[in-house]
Amino acid sequence: MKRGQIRVEKEAEQSAHPAERELAGKVALVTGAGRGIGRSIALALAKMGAVVLVNYNGSRERALEVVAEIEKAGGHGEAIGCDVSDYEACGRMAEEIIRKHARLDILVNNAGITKDNLILRMTEAEFDKVLDTNLKGAFNTIRHLSRYFLKQRSGRIINISSVSGVTGNAGQANYSASKAGLIGLTKSVARELAGKGVCVNAVAPGFIETEMTSALTETVREKAIASIPMGRMGSGADVAGLVAFLAGKGSDYITGQVICVDGGMAM
Ligand code: NDP
Repeated sequence: MKRGQIRVEKEAEQSAHPAERELAGKVALVTGAGRGIGRSIALALAKMGAVVLVNYNGSRERALEVVAEIEKAGGHGEAIGCDVSDYEACGRMAEEIIRKHARLDILVNNAGITKDNLILRMTEAEFDKVLDTNLKGAFNTIRHLSRYFLKQRSGRIINISSVSGVTGNAGQANYSASKAGLIGLTKSVARELAGKGVCVNAVAPGFIETEMTSALTETVREKAIASIPMGRMGSGADVAGLVAFLAGKGSDYITGQVICVDGGMAM
C-alpha cells in the first residue's frame, strides 16, 4: 500500500462520524429488506459499518438493488433469499450465514404482511398466513440463530411489531394478534437472553409511508393521519433511526422494551 493511499484512508476514517462506523466488523440480517421499512433499516445499518444481509422472499431484484445501493455508498451487503414462514428454510439460511460469516450480531425481524378483513369475514387462511409470516417468521429466525448469539455472548434482536399490536385495530384481528404476539415473544426471549449479553427489543411503528400503506383507500389514510398528533405519516428512515440506535452501543442497557415510532399515535 502506498503512503499517499494510507493518508487518504486515515483522513476518510477521521472525517467519518463515529456513529457511522460503530458497527464495523458486525454482521446484520434484516428480513424483508428488499423494500419498504426493511430497506431503510438495511441502508442505515450498512452506513454504520455493518455487513448487511438483505433478506427477501419475492423481491429478489429489489434486494439486489438494495445491495448495490449499499456497495455504492462504500458499505458491504449481500442478498439472501428465504421465506421466513418456512421453519426449515430459516434453518438453511442460518447455516449459510454462519458458514459464510462465522457470526451474526444483529437480527432484525422486519418481514411482514397484512390481509385485512373484519372478523366476521376473515378466513382461516387469512389468519394463518399473517400469523405464519409475522409471528412464526420471527420465531423461526430467532430459534435458528439465537444459539450463535449465546456462543458470542453478545447480540441484538429487534422485532418490528406495530402500534396495531399495542392498541388493536378494527379490520386487523390477524395482524394485531401477530404483532401483539411479537411483543410477547420479544419480552420472553429478552428475559431468557438478558444474562448472556443479548438485548431483545420491539419497535412498534405507527403509520409509515410504504407499499403496505399505499394500498389503503384515501378515506382510511385521511382518518389515520387525523389520529396522529404529529399530523403526518412516518417514513422508513424514521423507523430505521430507532433500529440503528437499538443496534448500536447507546442501547447496551435496554432490553425487553416496546418502543413506538408513531408521531404520538399510541400515547
Ligand atoms: P412492505 O409491504 O413494503 O414490505 C414487506 C416486506 O416483508 C417485503 O420486503 C417482503 O419481502 C417481506 N416479506 C413478506 N413476507 C415475507 C416472507 N414470507 N419471507 C421473507 N420476507 C417477507 O411493508 P413495510 O415495509 O411497510 O413493513 C415492514 C414491517 O413493518 C412489517 O413487519 C410491517 O408489519 C411493519 N409495520 C409497517 C407499518 C407501516 O405503516 N408501513 C406500520 C407498523 C408496522 P418480498 O417483497 O421479498 O416478498
